[in-house]
Amino acid sequence: MALLQISEPGKSTSPHEHRLAIGIDLGTTNSLVASVRSGIADTMADENGNHLLPSVVHYADGKSSVVGNDALIAGQKDPVNTISSVKRMMGRSFSEINSVINRSSNRIVDTDTSVPRIETASGLKSAIEVSSDILKSLRDRAEKTLGGELFGAVITVPAYFDDAQRQATKDAAKLAGLKILRLINEPTAAAVAYGLDKRVNGIFVIYDLGGGTMDVSILKLNKGVFEVLATAGDAVLGGDDMDHLIVDYLVEESGEKNINDPVFKQSALTQARKIKENLLANDTTDIKLLLPGGEEWSGQLTREKMQTLVAPVVEKTLKPCKRAMQDAGIKKTDINGIVLVGGPTRMQIVRKLISEFFEQEPLTDIDPDKVVAVGAALQADMLAGNKNNDVLLLDVTPLSLGLEIMGGMVEKIIPRNSTIPVARAQEFTTFKDGQTAMSIHVLQGEREMVSDCRSLAKFELKGIPSLVAGAARIRVTFQVDADGLLNVSATELTSGIETRVEVIPSYGLTDGEIESMLKDSISHAGDDMAARALREQQVEADRLYEAVTAAIAQDGEALLSESKLSEIKTCLNTLDTVSKKTDRNAIKLAIEKLDKATQEFAAMRMDLGVSRALSGHNINEFTKEPD
Ligand code: ADP
Ligand code: MG
Repeated sequence: MALLQISEPGKSTSPHEHRLAIGIDLGTTNSLVASVRSGIADTMADENGNHLLPSVVHYADGKSSVVGNDALIAGQKDPVNTISSVKRMMGRSFSEINSVINRSSNRIVDTDTSVPRIETASGLKSAIEVSSDILKSLRDRAEKTLGGELFGAVITVPAYFDDAQRQATKDAAKLAGLKILRLINEPTAAAVAYGLDKRVNGIFVIYDLGGGTMDVSILKLNKGVFEVLATAGDAVLGGDDMDHLIVDYLVEESGEKNINDPVFKQSALTQARKIKENLLANDTTDIKLLLPGGEEWSGQLTREKMQTLVAPVVEKTLKPCKRAMQDAGIKKTDINGIVLVGGPTRMQIVRKLISEFFEQEPLTDIDPDKVVAVGAALQADMLAGNKNNDVLLLDVTPLSLGLEIMGGMVEKIIPRNSTIPVARAQEFTTFKDGQTAMSIHVLQGEREMVSDCRSLAKFELKGIPSLVAGAARIRVTFQVDADGLLNVSATELTSGIETRVEVIPSYGLTDGEIESMLKDSISHAGDDMAARALREQQVEADRLYEAVTAAIAQDGEALLSESKLSEIKTCLNTLDTVSKKTDRNAIKLAIEKLDKATQEFAAMRMDLGVSRALSGHNINEFTKEPD
């Protein structure tokens, strides 16, 4: 008989109220699922006792998909129909995944939809579908382990994931029948697992070395608010590179010439992985290698030798660490803790080089494989309402969000590092008389000019009442939800006409792009301000030019002498010429000159306007009746 669980009074909700919530680390190489059971957060194992689920899916002809270790095994014989590292394709267009395509053993094709697809024996598969198969497998495991229907899941994504990549992850979850409670950043989840969300303030480095990617995030924690000060990384660096270095060594030692033999290659790679793991607890390990000829080669490798082989990979990870610290503007002494994430960070050599570099011992109490999933489970438990008195953590937006305004400039609506969820509104107006539509262009980035930012979406607000320029009032609202996804709506306030879009861009930013966009914004701040001031002046010039030209066309003949008209026209021509050039002062002077030349004309038009309005009316109509 199972033991009955007894909880501390007040510490848990009654059983019928307890909702089953899970945390998922959807990794490039491995994925995990965790939950909080009897107050303790831990990952769940499959029926063989494995906690890690390789993020690999095998699609065989007519059969349902196979996920995880079985897919890895199938992949040795059938690589074309076996998909791994699909996370690299999430939220990306065909043209953005060139490097993925070049290295992949799959056939990736551009289709008429916006997402690329992989050809398999069971049809074309998008990254979202493949990820959803991985998520389904984790969902099944959780349902079996927890013995009930799931209330929802928290899924983690890299901090630099943009709108498109987050949206793709959300779609994959939906497809897997999972209700998303929240998407949270992987480094945030790792910090939560260490309890850093509670009471802890300070700066933390999350160092994540995975199978094929390396990410470092610098977080500033302040009363439950998680601010990402900087992220950096290497999208093609990880444990896999260590494996290749070890294989090179094995090839050399065994004297094998036929290194492209697929069976030999696979056997050598499997050995390399085992070697890394065996040398964690042992100083030496035996190696058995299956040679192409069918013979076996055996040898030995010491931990010391293995460490010298893989050290270049670890050293390469220090560069992004340096860059992240620079970008965050912090020194080593500002760091309150370093959290290690990812399989390879178990290795002594990684821990050694990290502590030497940061001049402090990293936090390693929690299994670096599990830390992200555990943090996600803790959040899920809280969001499901099983735990009430905890701090709700808050992420922040990685890049500013704004709108295109006249002159190709960007007006930032939600600045970078705003705590999410967040909603901000700003009012805009029309540029031309009688303008009845407004095109709304949503951008992401730190620079001042549209051309330097990333376009997220464009939509149109139609049916604005026809009014003079500047009279319509359009309120544009940006809303970023707790998952970091953006919604934009626009309302014309006098008429109440409204349009809204959920911003679902067809492509995403690479982490490298985000990094360089952030850096650019810092190094170009001076240029940007000058460029913005110039554009503002040019916009003002265009506006005035349009207004005066329209006024002349309407009333010029009636109100202006020939000499005055020609004076104004000369001013207009000068303004038109200088406004196309880059001398801001010349534009300013031309504006002032035209302003002066038209002052009298403007006053006359005003009078004319009043008398037009009055014509045909009796003055008594306008006097107020005595009460
Ligand atoms: P990801 O976040 O990319 O999904 P993981 O954090 O699961 O990846 O890391 C996978 C990598 O970790 C693989 O290269 C694997 O060989 C390596 N790895 C797993 N366990 C160990 C270990 N005990 N020692 C060294 N490397 C390990
Ligand atoms: Mg990971």
